[in-house]
Amino acid sequence: MTMIPYGRQDISEADIQAVVDVLRSDFLTQGPAVPAFEQALAAYCGVAHAIAVNSATSALHIACLALGVGPGDLVWTSPNTFVASANCALYCGADVDFVDIDARTYNLSVEALAHKLAQAKLAGRLPKVVIPVHLTGQPCDMLAIHALGQEYGFKIIEDASHAIGGKYRGEAIGNCRYSDITVFSFHPVKIITSAEGGMATTQDAQLATSLQQLRSHGITRDPELMTHAPDGAWYYQQVTLGYNYRMTDMQAALGLSQMARLDDFVAHRHVMARRYDALLADFPVITPWQHPDGYSGLHLYVIRLQTERLTQTHRDVFDSLRAQSIGVNLHYIPVHTQPYYAAKGFKPGDFPEAEHYYSQAISLPMYATFTEEQQDRVIEALRKALQ
Ligand SMILES: *Cc1c(COP(=O)(O)O)cnc(C)c1O
Repeated sequence: MTMIPYGRQDISEADIQAVVDVLRSDFLTQGPAVPAFEQALAAYCGVAHAIAVNSATSALHIACLALGVGPGDLVWTSPNTFVASANCALYCGADVDFVDIDARTYNLSVEALAHKLAQAKLAGRLPKVVIPVHLTGQPCDMLAIHALGQEYGFKIIEDASHAIGGKYRGEAIGNCRYSDITVFSFHPVKIITSAEGGMATTQDAQLATSLQQLRSHGITRDPELMTHAPDGAWYYQQVTLGYNYRMTDMQAALGLSQMARLDDFVAHRHVMARRYDALLADFPVITPWQHPDGYSGLHLYVIRLQTERLTQTHRDVFDSLRAQSIGVNLHYIPVHTQPYYAAKGFKPGDFPEAEHYYSQAISLPMYATFTEEQQDRVIEALRKALQ
């Protein structure tokens, strides 16, 4: 039986043609496709600036740098995320700490954040940046996180790698109404893809300039930003230490072409999620709870096994699904339990809600071309796994 993956891209003939058109053009990189993708995404999100880069990991790195994160600073994020959400702070020489998750949304808990901030203030060790992660595409409680940011003076980077096409309080995620910078990923398992690629959005012109420079060696060609008038038409200046994090025009053309179907992709995910909810109603599992403030991008559909009602272990059920060619996955291994982070002093028990979630969670297949027949196969396999 063919494996049903937990996620996969959907590439149309128009997507292929868009990439071929770039290959036949004059520019494979630094041509017109990158700004076209940036403008389309900025318009979609209702944000002033969008800066395309070669991955969300790169976007997180330069977002931290643009916000001034450096040695001696502290960055907080959720332990229930991909390692990149935490690593970006370490790239800047800063320290990382985590805030435990909410038992219903699996996102960073606002109660835990408020509590930790009050303690950190007493200890004189407040975070410079907090990175809420919109897990599965469900937006975090940004209103409350933003209010805490005002109170305690930290900046906010939304890790929206799962969340493009989603909304928070009726507005597109990525508009940065409650944050300084929002980051998207276009890895093939995400909602739309550019093969590899990422985007940072911001309403702040200065942050946008900084992100643009950091993406390309810290170089500017804008005379306004130079220390003296240009020596000539060839002239550029390196004004900060940047990287080569540029997106190619082939990637941007693919991403831009995919955007035409973004709303349809997310709508299909919602149809399939509602069908999962109905089909799983009598199973000993907890289906995803959707906060009424959000319209999720639904990158993932995560169930939690009610392990106290089962004779099988979490691992038994996972292995049985894989053995039945269902490509289930687990998002995420709590970052603080990774050996690299354990070596920094984090231990099991530090973030109990994230660890409890990890002992029960399974990501079921969910993607743009996921069919009812495939979904029925997943349900039958789960029924068998739980027998
Ligand atoms: C995928 C992902 C990233 C990294 O994205 P890349 O584009 O692969 O670098 C970061 N954070 C989260 C939450 C992700 O899911």
